[in-house]
Amino acid sequence: MGLPKKVKYLIIGAGVHGLSTAYHLAKYLKEKGQGTGQDILVIEKSSIAAGASGVACGNVRCNYYQEPMTRLMMHCMDIWESDPDYYAYNSVGYLTASFAPMAEGLATIHERHKQLGYPSTFVQGEQAVKKYMQGVFHDWQAEKLEAVLHEHRGGHAWSKQAIHGLAIKAEKEDARLLVGPAVTGFQFNSDGSVKMVETDMGAIEVGQVVVAVGPWIKQMWRMLELPNQVLDPRNPGQMTELWRFLALQEGEIEINPYIHITNDGARPPLIHVDSDVPLYSEDGHLVWDQPWGIYFKRDKHAVQGGAVPVDVGSEAAIDPYGSRSPYYCVGDDFYDLWVASLAHCMKRYEGTRKYASAKPSGGVGAFSADNFPVFDFMCPNVYVIADSNHGFKMIGVGEQVARILTGETSELLAPFSFNRFAEQKSLPKSNAPFPWM
Ligand SMILES: Cc1cc2nc3c(=O)[nH]c(=O)nc-3n(C[C@H](O)[C@H](O)[C@H](O)COP(=O)(O)OP(=O)(O)OC[C@H]3O[C@@H](n4cnc5c(N)ncnc54)[C@H](O)[C@@H]3O)c2cc1C
Repeated sequence: MGLPKKVKYLIIGAGVHGLSTAYHLAKYLKEKGQGTGQDILVIEKSSIAAGASGVACGNVRCNYYQEPMTRLMMHCMDIWESDPDYYAYNSVGYLTASFAPMAEGLATIHERHKQLGYPSTFVQGEQAVKKYMQGVFHDWQAEKLEAVLHEHRGGHAWSKQAIHGLAIKAEKEDARLLVGPAVTGFQFNSDGSVKMVETDMGAIEVGQVVVAVGPWIKQMWRMLELPNQVLDPRNPGQMTELWRFLALQEGEIEINPYIHITNDGARPPLIHVDSDVPLYSEDGHLVWDQPWGIYFKRDKHAVQGGAVPVDVGSEAAIDPYGSRSPYYCVGDDFYDLWVASLAHCMKRYEGTRKYASAKPSGGVGAFSADNFPVFDFMCPNVYVIADSNHGFKMIGVGEQVARILTGETSELLAPFSFNRFAEQKSLPKSNAPFPWM
């Protein structure tokens, strides 16, 4: 298929958001008698799952401090659970164990879970936490953890497989997918709407555009001639850059993944730990004395996980992955911290630093000025899905966007409108050492 001259719905990007929008939009157009999947074209410059969605750890959780995030994640969870085979979804739960500064926040989240009917267990107090964790892993040994929030839904998906599953579902609904064209610019009508989308394979006349380009958002934002500066949500009256880039540090230890097993022989929940206990290497050197946060899971061929991201500046990553592989290579510093933290938590990981993988992993994410997504019409006919790197788990955003494009409104997406910056109405910040909690 070449690039058509004209299309009713053009979706840019074949990651989780572009493909979820395509699949759900194709379904709703048909159900509502407004068209068919043939009215939709997804264009992707590289390949399906070439961006952040394909390198994501695949965590799916609902432990967000902000109510709008919790509600949106519960909706996403329903979608993950609706088709676990196509979405390559492992519903193993998600367990967060945290130090004292985060205990109150986790208690608040647990209360909200109860109100919203989302199943989770909350445990507080150092001894109670240790006992709970040893009930899951007999060799749990981390000290000074004050609270546990154990979500009984959630878990993780195999990221590339999930995105290919979405692509298959979209194509089964007759949505078209064209890999090759890179969007290079836009031509506007006098009312500010987009008339033509320019690509390196020619221009295409469009009715409605959905931008779902993940970490490439800053590039696309410029092409759409949108403002790069917003009122700073953390510094009233000051302006700040809207997009900045953090490298998500992730890696693997190449050991038999079945070492990561619960006391009763099951695949464990995804484990997330926040702490400030100093970490030491296997030969006794101090490797980290700041607060730290890590997560880990049993992967297909290894134990995989990550740690707090590092800032790579606002300009450095304007084309975050360039023409190279989408990975950000982590180095010794990451593995020193991450493996030391695993060994700090569970005896079974002592002595495993030598199995740190040399393979590239991790990747770059684009974060907004308040670290929350922007889901909004940024031109009269251009809907932007810019998830501020929250997004692999947000498979339900495309479903809500499909509703909007077929004439409905979305209460779930409303809190993430762009004008919150002008109105200084950012969501509350948690105490987590991660920018995405
Ligand atoms: C290392 C890492 C780990 C992560 N782990 C998790 C996790 O465990 N859980 C979680 O919820 N989130 C996670 N995230 C965040 C999550 O992956 C992203 O928020 C989400 O995948 C973004 O999806 P997307 O569809 O917007 O973008 P992407 O998946 O990046 O897709 C965008 C697509 O657009 C294409 N594109 C870009 N520019 C153009 C153009 N000009 N023309 C045509 N096509 C274009 C790209 O090639 C790409 O395929 C992680 C991110 C990283 C980097």
